[in-house]
Amino acid sequence: AISAVLTGWHWAPETSMRVIIACLPVLALHTLSVSAVSYRLIRKTARQNQMLDELRRVDALTGLFGRGHWQEQAEATLRHHHTTDEPACMLMLDIDHFKEINDTHGHTVGDEVIRAVAHVVRGNVRASDCAGRFGGDEFAIILPGIGLQDAIAIAQRIREQAEGVRVRSLPGVRITCSIGVASAAHSHSNLRAWIDAADTGLYLAKNAGRNQVAGGA
Ligand code: GH3
Ligand code: MG
Repeated sequence: AISAVLTGWHWAPETSMRVIIACLPVLALHTLSVSAVSYRLIRKTARQNQMLDELRRVDALTGLFGRGHWQEQAEATLRHHHTTDEPACMLMLDIDHFKEINDTHGHTVGDEVIRAVAHVVRGNVRASDCAGRFGGDEFAIILPGIGLQDAIAIAQRIREQAEGVRVRSLPGVRITCSIGVASAAHSHSNLRAWIDAADTGLYLAKNAGRNQVAGGA
């Protein structure tokens, strides 16, 4: 509007070839720089989305899967069992008397214990299994294609290795854990039912004196 006022509302749409050619570099530069900035922005957003997804999937303390991602995988395994009848098992592991470790030695040692047990769990699962941190001192593991007896053997191995874990800051601290095992069944209409079965096993293991493995119905 200011330009129009200054030029006395003079309207001359013709542009000389010289002016058009003189403008070309500016137009080209502008287009290129806008494209470059947009491209960088898209790359940055994609990277950040990937990081967010990673944060959502992985538990920060242990590096195992977080509860949300674990649940998605567990649901998929249960669905697969319902359609194909392929066996699958769930282990529910809980560290024994963990509150005592926290209360006696502090949360930092507690965290170290959680990380050490997670390390044992990771060392005993295949890439196709899904090991997650379910809550504070509780871990949940899905073993696709594994029957109950083999799952119990894997759980026993984890339990034995957890017994041998020593934390660097307090080598005197002895760790044990209890594990409930449940195989996927058609009667498990949803994931909750399968988790409840593994929890029943865990409850039995705790009640029987801890540091043991028990199967749930
Ligand atoms: P039980 O043998 O019956 O399992 O006894 P427990 O003392 O282990 O009891 P429980 O499993 O209920 O204790 C879980 C405790 O874990 C309670 C909470 O203070 C602690 N906790 C939860 N999350 C964390 C964490 O991220 N770090 C640490 N250090 N402690 C945690
Ligand atoms: Mg516990």
